[in-house]
Amino acid sequence: MAKTLIEPTSTSADDLRAMLLERRSAVQQEIHELLTQYREHYTATHNHSVLDLEDMSLRDSTAEQQLSLLEARNRTRMMLDTALRRLDDGEYGLCEDCGAKIGAGRLRALPFAKRCLSCQHQAEVLEKIARQEDRRDDA
Ligand SMILES: [Zn+2]
Repeated sequence: MAKTLIEPTSTSADDLRAMLLERRSAVQQEIHELLTQYREHYTATHNHSVLDLEDMSLRDSTAEQQLSLLEARNRTRMMLDTALRRLDDGEYGLCEDCGAKIGAGRLRALPFAKRCLSCQHQAEVLEKIARQEDRRDDA
């Protein structure tokens, strides 16, 4: 329990920026590799190098997997961009909903957390309710 007390409460913006940029370039590199793999796979299975839309609809499971990985990495990259923008605006580390400072521990674990723990919890509950409402509409 005492552990949280000795935790540094402030990380400098420069440190944060460096950390976010580092993650961003790692993600960028992964995207590049995935795209290369995807292109190689595509060329190997289709015997030609031009991606056309008709073939895109006949994607096999490997390609499907690569694409969903790419999608996930791209989402991460966008979150990192948002975090960097918030850092520039001086809003990074502040809860989007209540404006409170997000704990340093939480930010280290989740560098692009946009809400404090209690607002995040609240948002998740609201999301769950919204999903239930959706289901009810479908029925
Ligand atoms: Zn909050």
